Amino acid sequence: MISLVFATNNVHKLNEIKTAVGSKINILSLSDIGCSEDIPETADTLQGNASQKSWYIFNKYHIDCFADDTGLEIDALNGKPGVYSARYAGENHDHEKNMDKVLSELQGVQNRKAKFRTIISLIINGTETLFEGVVKGTILTERHGNKGFGYDPIFKPMGLEISFAEMDLSDKNKTSHRGIAVQKLKEFLDAYNESM
Ligand code: IMP
Repeated sequence: MISLVFATNNVHKLNEIKTAVGSKINILSLSDIGCSEDIPETADTLQGNASQKSWYIFNKYHIDCFADDTGLEIDALNGKPGVYSARYAGENHDHEKNMDKVLSELQGVQNRKAKFRTIISLIINGTETLFEGVVKGTILTERHGNKGFGYDPIFKPMGLEISFAEMDLSDKNKTSHRGIAVQKLKEFLDAYNESM
């Protein structure tokens, strides 16, 4: 069975990805490999950050791995918060403050279109492959639900009547940016496994 380190300290993401990839791929966490440092994330694009994180782990631990970076892109805010989604309201990555900031910037704004975009950078044997997942939706006028994390309570995916924070993990994975990117990763890994 193929083993991959997922370069994240976010437990929610780790659970989402483990649920999404299923039992054929063994996902290791950073603590499983004894990595407790903060991985640098200083690029100004999602792809740059995803690559920076996965190469950091590969170069230091010489182990196959992947990393993701996600941003919420809001049309009326010219694509913001985008790559700065985690620290939109300040350096302490406070999800509640980030949502408050978005809600107040969109107060009275009719165009509530937004999308989540995830880029995954996978490194196997020193070769990088990128995967992208995008989900379109709208920003609600107030929070709905208490599952998930980040901006989930204020994001309603297109075609559904509930927010991400009102969905069970397996339902969120079926439509979400990360779920779509992980599906592509999974198909790539299944083909890779078969070719071995
Ligand atoms: P990261 O840099 O990939 O960890 O993501 C940046 C920020 O985007 C996170 O801190 C969250 O605020 C937000 N984010 C990422 N993924 C999701 C998601 O699936 N739902 C809601 N917010 C998310």
